[in-house]
Amino acid sequence: MAGRIPQSFIDELVARSDIVEIIGAHVALKKSGREFKACCPFHSEKTPSFWVSPEKQFYHCFGCGAHGTVLGFLMQYEKLEFPEAVAQLAERAGLEMPREAQAAREPGGVDLYALMAQAARFFEQNLSDNARARAYLAGRTIDAATAVKFGLGYAPDSWNALLNRFGQSEHERGKLLQAGLIIERDTRGGERQPGFYDRFRDRLMFPIRDARGRVIAFGGRVIDQGEPKYLNSPETPLFHKGRELYGLYEARQAHADFKRLMIVEGYMDVVRLHQSGITYAVATLGTATTQEHLHKIFRITNEVVFSFDGDRAGRAAAWRALENALPLASDGRELKFLFLPEGHDPDTLVAAEGAAAFESRLKSALPMSEYLLKQLVEQVDLAHVDGRAKLAALARPLFARMPDGVYRELLADRLAGEIRMPADKLKALLAPHEPRRGPAGRPQPERPDRGPPHHGGHAASAGRGNLLRQAISLVLHHPAAARAIRGSDLLGGIDRPGVDVLRTLLEQAASVDAPTTAMLLERWRDRPEFDRLAELAARSPLVADGAAAASELKTAVEKLAEEYRTGRRMDELLQKARESGLNSDEKAELSFLLKAKSRLESGS
Ligand SMILES: [Zn+2]
Repeated sequence: MAGRIPQSFIDELVARSDIVEIIGAHVALKKSGREFKACCPFHSEKTPSFWVSPEKQFYHCFGCGAHGTVLGFLMQYEKLEFPEAVAQLAERAGLEMPREAQAAREPGGVDLYALMAQAARFFEQNLSDNARARAYLAGRTIDAATAVKFGLGYAPDSWNALLNRFGQSEHERGKLLQAGLIIERDTRGGERQPGFYDRFRDRLMFPIRDARGRVIAFGGRVIDQGEPKYLNSPETPLFHKGRELYGLYEARQAHADFKRLMIVEGYMDVVRLHQSGITYAVATLGTATTQEHLHKIFRITNEVVFSFDGDRAGRAAAWRALENALPLASDGRELKFLFLPEGHDPDTLVAAEGAAAFESRLKSALPMSEYLLKQLVEQVDLAHVDGRAKLAALARPLFARMPDGVYRELLADRLAGEIRMPADKLKALLAPHEPRRGPAGRPQPERPDRGPPHHGGHAASAGRGNLLRQAISLVLHHPAAARAIRGSDLLGGIDRPGVDVLRTLLEQAASVDAPTTAMLLERWRDRPEFDRLAELAARSPLVADGAAAASELKTAVEKLAEEYRTGRRMDELLQKARESGLNSDEKAELSFLLKAKSRLESGS
């Protein structure tokens, strides 16, 4: 729904709010240099490692890794959804929520939420009328009380039952289409009449609810055999599948406070587990577990158990979940992996052995660090030096995704033990970096005049491969400096991955009068790059001074553009060399370019 709140409004809101004032209302902030510090409200500590930057309008905890904008703080501290945080901040700032944002709630006078609620009741009614669907539920040992609690329903075996019930006028059909409940017939071949049909037919229906219990989407499961087994609502103004969790509303109803949440794969698993008394189970909606899911979960609890089938698909899903969880792995958070015996899913297992036996399996769940090591160790032969070197190489990109902190340290120690290498030596290998040099060649302090000394290091790694990341980091930390250079023009036409992110950031910085880090970040909240960018913003700046940053950024952007042009011309020449040979001018040019390339790569 965030997309429905105009960016200009969020800009104004962020510009008008002071993060120091908002956070200061909840946490005792002390001025320290240009920033403010406090004991972190998100983990327990005695010495302050929570910093708030009025300049960047950004907060960051060096202890637990929590970070974000003023909106992020409200979401994390008050456990709000994004639109709720916007509404609360708008109220404080005395700004009226714009009409466009209200439109998501009441598009064209008909409330999409109301329509979804009506559809849910329609499906529920059909379930009680349909003996076959009821028999199916009974066969899965789902009792009536559980079916009611989850609002389970049945979509009739018809192309237009729902359409006829709710889509009498063109306007109503438009709303059904917007809600993802009907599909427009494909008339491109010309042989069909234009029109619509029901999306869900002959399926058991699982309403998906938001934090407030409103139905925002449906998942439909085939009753007997058929494909696909699960069909979900498409993305709609109400529903973004990468951020919702099935069963979370019901779990929150059952618990005032959570010890843990368990993520399982299927809707039926969630329903069956809740019925057995395991009311802290949730499922993703046909996607891998995303960072957005995890952010949402860690606002509620510090312990997450991923419970997956022991088969190949389950293990692949677990590994993807691990990769997405790494950036959030910080002290005080527990991530565990529970693999079920092959041939079982939580639904069948809890039915077979009961809740107590199932819960006792949680004791044997692998902590994330163990699971990560186990997966890596299985891929190499530790008896040989080569195997141990390979293990370090496999671990490096994974470590690079983890925030600094005790967790990362402990994992590095464990890994050092496995490969029989002194821990310090391994840590140097895992976090390669050279001292940062300023424009005049003098070493720059990592975090000039403020901030805890233990932070820094890997954030500032300045290898050539990181040129793009450096440039992105410079824009994030010094948006006003980025505004001054016309960098986005230079990068036109370059389609390398990540360059589009840099180009967009440069354009965004140029589009606002007084851009801040927070303003830039808020433009990415709905995109997959958001977490990565917020992490970069939370790290120490590469360069503290704005003018130096502008010059560094300009150089970086020019180098990127040059690298790309050199690379493209070289590819042309190499291809010609293979196909028809080069003349002497072209040979000279290629040799010149190869030298230029190696010069660029060595960084001189
Ligand atoms: Zn903290």
